[in-house]
Amino acid sequence: MDLSLPLRRGVVLILSSPSGAGKTTLTRMLLQDRALDLTLSISVTTRARRSSEVDGIHYRFINERQFAAMRDAGDLLEWAEVHGNFYGTPRGPVEDILAQGRDCLFDIDYQGTRQVREKMGADTVTVFILPPSMKELRARLERRAEDAKEAIERRLENARKEIARWKDYDYVIVNDDLQRSFDDLIAILRAERQRRPRREREIERFVEKLLSE
Ligand code: 5GP
Repeated sequence: MDLSLPLRRGVVLILSSPSGAGKTTLTRMLLQDRALDLTLSISVTTRARRSSEVDGIHYRFINERQFAAMRDAGDLLEWAEVHGNFYGTPRGPVEDILAQGRDCLFDIDYQGTRQVREKMGADTVTVFILPPSMKELRARLERRAEDAKEAIERRLENARKEIARWKDYDYVIVNDDLQRSFDDLIAILRAERQRRPRREREIERFVEKLLSE
């Protein structure tokens, strides 16, 4: 048995939703629950930083030239253009987390989800979060008030296209109650962590010891 390999395969947990459906809040709740030991993949983006955002925590904010350089060097696990800006997942940090047998959380769109699934295969678990209604989605975007009016309209238009991708996902959560959505996410994560293929090496070792008693 190669002792340099982790005993358990990390979960590649992807959350997608149209903006305003509550994904950012749910992501924060997941990360704040230390016992879950989830690490967020911090994306690079060419979008302008919002006043509530911190460089290196929410995103790494870079310019288009830097983005193209990372992409062309193969440093991005996936990338996509969303709402007229570029977004991408740096490959290195994700590989480091998974090599430790730990789980990695992604807040990326459906284009990125498809690319990650192609590369990471069975380790990937995908969850789509739906808003309870379009009215509520608009209200949440307006409440956030961090984007210009025309950006809100563009996001709503895009939301309809994004919502149509729900069938690409393993799980779908309708976020009409934040706490229940959070509980559902934890249930998904717990069950996925227990899947036999993910724990094959760990259980193999355990059963060997068990049977030698
Ligand atoms: P926002 O600009 O509101 O932070 O994000 C807009 C959209 O881009 C969201 O749906 C978010 O999930 C997606 N996104 C954020 N980072 C990435 C990334 O690295 N790759 C891809 N494909 N999408 C991303």
